[in-house]
Amino acid sequence: MIVLKFGGTSVRDGEWINKALEITKNQLQKEPVLIASAMGKTTDKLQELAHYAENGKIKEAENIIQTLKDSHFAVASGFLSGNNLSTCLSEQELLFKKIKSIAKGLSLLRECSPRSNDTILSFGELFSTIIITHRAREIGIHTTFADSREFIKTDDQFTKAQLLEDLTNKLIQEKIKPEKGKLTVAQGFIASTVDGVTTTLGRGGSDYSASIIGAALHADEIQVWTDVNGIMSTDPGIIPKAATVPVISYKEAAELAYFGARVIHPSTIQPAISLGIPVLVKNTGNPGAEGTHIISTPESPSIPADTPKAIAFKKGITVINITSYRMFLAYGFLRMIFEIFEKYKTSVDIISTSEVSVSMTIDNTTHLNSIEEQLKNIGNVHIKDNMSIICLVGQGLWKNSIIISKVFKNLGSIPVRMISLGASDTNLSFVVPNEQAENTVKILHKTFFE
Ligand code: ADP
Ligand code: ASP
Ligand code: MG
Repeated sequence: MIVLKFGGTSVRDGEWINKALEITKNQLQKEPVLIASAMGKTTDKLQELAHYAENGKIKEAENIIQTLKDSHFAVASGFLSGNNLSTCLSEQELLFKKIKSIAKGLSLLRECSPRSNDTILSFGELFSTIIITHRAREIGIHTTFADSREFIKTDDQFTKAQLLEDLTNKLIQEKIKPEKGKLTVAQGFIASTVDGVTTTLGRGGSDYSASIIGAALHADEIQVWTDVNGIMSTDPGIIPKAATVPVISYKEAAELAYFGARVIHPSTIQPAISLGIPVLVKNTGNPGAEGTHIISTPESPSIPADTPKAIAFKKGITVINITSYRMFLAYGFLRMIFEIFEKYKTSVDIISTSEVSVSMTIDNTTHLNSIEEQLKNIGNVHIKDNMSIICLVGQGLWKNSIIISKVFKNLGSIPVRMISLGASDTNLSFVVPNEQAENTVKILHKTFFE
């Protein structure tokens, strides 16, 4: 069997849903399971709606619901007819009624806990998959609708729930029965606790859902369909000249994802890696283009080893520098620092140390004030926000000193702060001010890819 995942960009409107289903229809013999995200920017809109409700702004919340209803109904009415249309609209109507009463309740209470937030966001994927299911039937595909919350099970860390792997695998195998010539449609991103309370896997989590389902069903392949020709040498939104990377290793792709290339979600890689399932990233708008193969071995036949494969960047990073008050504490210093980060569940991306000081980057600043307060007990703390991580990805890069010297020579006067090389064998990362991020990526892209 195969899993086809279509992201929000790939199901943005009726035309793109048709493209997605055409791609699927051509592969019906491979026992496909289709995982879809919410249409276009629906999840962002739902997030806005949750904020309005939390602030008691019921009118604004209702306006968003109406806009979403209009756009979803318009798509459905645009390409469905007869029974497919009426069933689709009545199923959606039910959901819109539900979300309206939830929004009303939340705005009366003026609260939107992470738990309620997940419930609100979950509607996007339900809307889209209902439409996709009916459109698939309309064009003659035998289609089963599946609710991912019935088989993707997580703990109750709402908004970034952790997978309960064994239970999930068992339920997926029980509930999804791929068949030749038939299609199953299910939602990305959404899941539920053992008690059936709706959770989500974190923004961009549909890739992860696809990978979880692919792993549980021992898929022959996971296809991630998006709106660009695969994983590119950098974000084509910044560098239109960016070229497709034809083959990349799991490790390299994970590193890229982790450092900001949103084309693939970091956790996507994990369940697939463990089983060696190939992941293919392709363009729904250009299915003929080759796309990117993500494979488990680091050696890529088409690109020589020790050369950069792609550049990722992550803006809005905060650098925390702490200098120990007392040098003799050196051996316990790092432990004390990390205990504080652990306490506030804040992960550190890049770290560099000297005898008495440590610099770290974080991108989640929710608990920054508390972290700063506690760090002050052990040293002088200096915080700099509005920074960016630039990450050059490629297996074995660190071994190639010519590349490393080229990087820093060509960056000229750009102020580089922290450098991390060799910690992982797949990347060279460093920090620059936000306003220099695009320029830095442009210079590196020119140096290595043009
Ligand atoms: P989807 O809706 O398919 O999940 P996303 O918006 O999450 O799509 O991811 C696709 C987008 O990722 C592309 O449109 C592109 O702008 C961006 N992107 C960032 N870095 C890269 C990269 N290295 N290669 C390809 N796309 C990238
Ligand atoms: N719809 C969700 C989001 O926008 C999940 C996804 O697109 O992968 O984050
Ligand atoms: Mg995505």
